Amino acid sequence: MNEQNLRVVIIGGGPAALTAAIYASRANLDTTVIAGYQSGGQLMLTSEVENFPGFPEGIMGPELMDGMRRQAERFGSKFVDADATRVDFSARVKKVFVEDEVYEGEAVIVATGASAMWLNLPSEERLRGRGVSSCATCDGFFFRGKEIAVVGGGDSALEEALFLTKFATKVTLIHRRDKFRASKIMQDRAAKHPKIEIVPDTVIEEVLGENKVEGVRVHNFKTGETRVIPLDGVFVAIGHRPNTDIFNGWLDMNEKGYLTVQNETETNVKGVFVAGDVYDYRYRQAVTAAASGCKSALDAEHYLEALAGEPAEILTAQNW
Ligand code: NAP
Repeated sequence: MNEQNLRVVIIGGGPAALTAAIYASRANLDTTVIAGYQSGGQLMLTSEVENFPGFPEGIMGPELMDGMRRQAERFGSKFVDADATRVDFSARVKKVFVEDEVYEGEAVIVATGASAMWLNLPSEERLRGRGVSSCATCDGFFFRGKEIAVVGGGDSALEEALFLTKFATKVTLIHRRDKFRASKIMQDRAAKHPKIEIVPDTVIEEVLGENKVEGVRVHNFKTGETRVIPLDGVFVAIGHRPNTDIFNGWLDMNEKGYLTVQNETETNVKGVFVAGDVYDYRYRQAVTAAASGCKSALDAEHYLEALAGEPAEILTAQNW
């Protein structure tokens, strides 16, 4: 076995996967990226990215993703624009399936990310990127001097609400109950903040506005009141869901489905590495995802280098 036919399959299409692809293909590994039907990850849903280093004027999310992909292709990465549907990690040569098609690699990097959960209102979907966002760090800056709402009652919602007070003149925190999941300290901070108004027992029935957000129509369960709150932006912070269904039974996960790692990038299966939001629910930034893609590719490369020294019968063994 020589360097050329050491294969790595990367599952995912966001900054973690694409950075892993750049590093793996530059290391002369035979690199296949199963990038998904919606290649590009969550950055395809944002508009301008202003906090990715190296772009002083900002860059559009899809453009950044396109640049990363072309960079990976330049070094020989091959792309499959379809979703991985199944994996088989039982042997040393791992299999990743796209329906009946199988892609094999001595190493696999899982970078399938997490998806923001949405309220699933048609008006919310229509106004996404036009005042409706799921990322305060990405989009908060655009709401300088404006009034906004944050939806949710967990740490993410309260953290986003507090962060957004730096820009907005008023933050209305809308939560469907009067008890919060968020830590006590975050609840105290939000309750004391002069720019935050907490609206409990309330759901958003509709996001109002034709081409941009102009308000929300809300309903209070306890009082039965329905009213309109005029505002310019809605941040939905009701949690994320890691895209790990196909790894059930193969990879260790926590109770919320995030993959668990050891030594930074390793999973419980030798040769399967992890990168980005699929395990990192804390930072969730394009730049941290890219950094972890780099780490997982370097670790996969070291793993494959060690494999390359082993006899062929061990490499092809089905049970190991
Ligand atoms: P979370 O704790 O699961 O909270 C989600 C919130 O959204 C809950 O209040 C929930 O309401 C609400 N919600 C869910 N579906 C909804 C719907 N359809 N409509 C309206 N509201 C809905 O999620 P998270 O806040 O993203 O936190 C995830 C994990 O990351 C947690 O373990 C959290 O502690 C951690 N985290 C930590 C930090 C930090 O330490 N700095 C920051 C962020 C997140 P109910 O309460 O009624 O279910």
